[in-house]
Amino acid sequence: MNVKDEFSFISKITPRHTHQSSLKVAIGDDAAVYSGTDLFDEVICVDTMVEGIHFRKDTLTPYQIGKKALAVNLSDLAAMGAVPHYYLVSIAIPKSWSEEQLEAVYHGMKDLADQFKVDLIGGDTVSIQESLVITVTVIGRVEKNRSLLRSSAEVGDNVFVTGYVGGSAAGLSLLLEKGNEASYFDHEQELIKAHQEPVPQVRAGRIFAQSNERISLNDVSDGLASEANEIAEASQVTLLLYEEKLPLHPAMSANELDQQLDAALYGGEDFQLIGTASKETFPLIQAECKRQGISLHLIGEVIDNQPAVYLKKENEKILLSKKGYNHFSK
Ligand code: ADP
Ligand code: MG
Repeated sequence: MNVKDEFSFISKITPRHTHQSSLKVAIGDDAAVYSGTDLFDEVICVDTMVEGIHFRKDTLTPYQIGKKALAVNLSDLAAMGAVPHYYLVSIAIPKSWSEEQLEAVYHGMKDLADQFKVDLIGGDTVSIQESLVITVTVIGRVEKNRSLLRSSAEVGDNVFVTGYVGGSAAGLSLLLEKGNEASYFDHEQELIKAHQEPVPQVRAGRIFAQSNERISLNDVSDGLASEANEIAEASQVTLLLYEEKLPLHPAMSANELDQQLDAALYGGEDFQLIGTASKETFPLIQAECKRQGISLHLIGEVIDNQPAVYLKKENEKILLSKKGYNHFSK
């Protein structure tokens, strides 16, 4: 790519003015929101996966490529607190892909779509020279004015994350090292599965939206450090994360701690939800998550009104940039 910084590119192309008065959330969050009926807002997002960049035939099967292409979009809708309803698929097909393999891609999407009662309603099919490109658009809805934004965090909030983090990156490392044909221990297979078949946290997103409380939310597509920074920037607040509270995927426990932290903070593709809620709200949503079999971990707090993220590690406080460590003494 000839674009140096994706974020500054996006800000350059973001329109300064919009035309439609129904628009509620434009570029800048996990999905866009515009008003629909009296009771609901519409939520829509799109994501692309490219062969050789986001997957290879030896890291994901065609079935898993389809499933994941839909899952990443359902995750963006989950991060808004929305219920997914419809999806559209645009696919650019190179000669190296057989019709059978393409059917498997759609089979993977359908299995996940059936689970969430989402319908395929359109798309586009074209040829391409080299690599498969698959673009999925998902449309859903959320109760009026209840979409959960990255910009809602406030000083004093607790910071939380659903499920475990780091598993996907650890699974990808195994696949890149040994390939998908190798024999793996059970715990390694668990990590590989976390990478190949991530589960979007739609139900957790719905618990947060239906709580009717102020909750900021983002999905973990690029690693905790990057996602926490997106909340910090959108809300203009400082997040302090506690290293010992990060829910590192238990199947990674044989790895060095530094490796586990690296996977959780910078690996990405866990598709869990990170967010903040007031200290009064947090126990309520945690209890409801528990009732529904979802683990919600308290990992930090919002401490200040400057956009930054720190990791507290014993006596050290480390500034977490979007990518890579930046040591900071305190
Ligand atoms: P996420 O953080 O959920 O992965 P991205 O970083 O892909 O989202 O995008 C950030 C925001 O910029 C989103 O609101 C997205 O819709 C928007 N966006 C990304 N790329 C483009 C583009 N090429 N044109 C218009 N909007 C874009
Ligand atoms: Mg997102």
